[in-house]
Amino acid sequence: MNLVEELKINRNLPDEELLHLINTDAYDDALMKAADEVRRSVYNDEVFLRGLIEFTNYCKNNCRYCGIRGGNGNAERYRLTKEEILDCCKEGHKLGFRTFVLQGGEDLFYSDEEICDIVRGIKELFPEVAVTLSIGEKTKDTYRKYKEAGADRYLLRHETATEEHYGFLHPEGMSLENRKRCLYDLKDLGFQVGAGFMVGSPGQKPEYILADLRFLQELKPDMIGIGPFIPHKDTEFKDEPAGNLELTLRLLSVLRLMFPYVLLPATTALGTIVPNGRELGLKHGANVVMPNLSPVRFREQYSLYDNKICTGEEAAECRRCLEVRVKNAGYRIVDARGDVINH
Ligand code: SAH
Repeated sequence: MNLVEELKINRNLPDEELLHLINTDAYDDALMKAADEVRRSVYNDEVFLRGLIEFTNYCKNNCRYCGIRGGNGNAERYRLTKEEILDCCKEGHKLGFRTFVLQGGEDLFYSDEEICDIVRGIKELFPEVAVTLSIGEKTKDTYRKYKEAGADRYLLRHETATEEHYGFLHPEGMSLENRKRCLYDLKDLGFQVGAGFMVGSPGQKPEYILADLRFLQELKPDMIGIGPFIPHKDTEFKDEPAGNLELTLRLLSVLRLMFPYVLLPATTALGTIVPNGRELGLKHGANVVMPNLSPVRFREQYSLYDNKICTGEEAAECRRCLEVRVKNAGYRIVDARGDVINH
């Protein structure tokens, strides 16, 4: 049996073989085919939409790779009001979106009560939609309040599961330990949880990617977000190379084989490093796309990395554009919440 077959059947490989898969392009075709088979056996040709609302780019953190880090004095900051957020949801709902993702920097301007009020506001308008939060590290008590207000899911990439690398990418005061604590608290509270990492982040080694895969096996998240690292001009990593397309696609396939049920987005970052990146992501095992629902006038300002795509189109155009892209890749957008399948 070859490595790909073995991974497909056992959903696992010994360290050395997994490392070999990460390091070689020899299996890329076989990986893609196997990943597509598995994704079709679990989710058919369905692709789920997540309406992304980037509601604040204020951030108290200073992650070294991120364009909206607090220390970036060149970032023009904005925040949306509850009404503006609800307007985005209303527009998205008309277009068929049944999941809204509220993402932002870690912005202390919004109290727990305010976030809960926004979540309740969305749920009152549209009881059938799923609300996902992606607003960073909080206490378990705060996460509990979000859950009680009606939030269904939470995205918090672990970024890297290797202490040393985590310390390199993040400022003092942030720790892998707390990041993991958050993820386990969220799981414990009953959120559908998403973790993940950047591919090709500065200092990343194949062994670190292996550690990321091992951590994901331990956490068993419902969603996994990976995308290439892309430099941002106002960070000290501005001259670092972007993450590699082939490696990102290979890892998407590996993840699909290791976690057949997982909700796996073809990310905006992937679509940024190459024009057909999201289509390629879908063909390699991804089954989610996350079009931007933020008001167009603020899109440029949510600048995590340079040259981010989809900053100019209205939501309706995004939906149409993705409809075509998904179809060309051989799949079909469905207007459903797209909850994880039991695993
Ligand atoms: N503040 C939230 C949301 C972060 S932004 C949180 O802490 O979870 C969402 C993701 O964008 C991050 O988790 C990170 O993996 C990714 N990201 C940030 N900067 C990036 C860059 N320069 N290139 C690619 N992805 C980046």
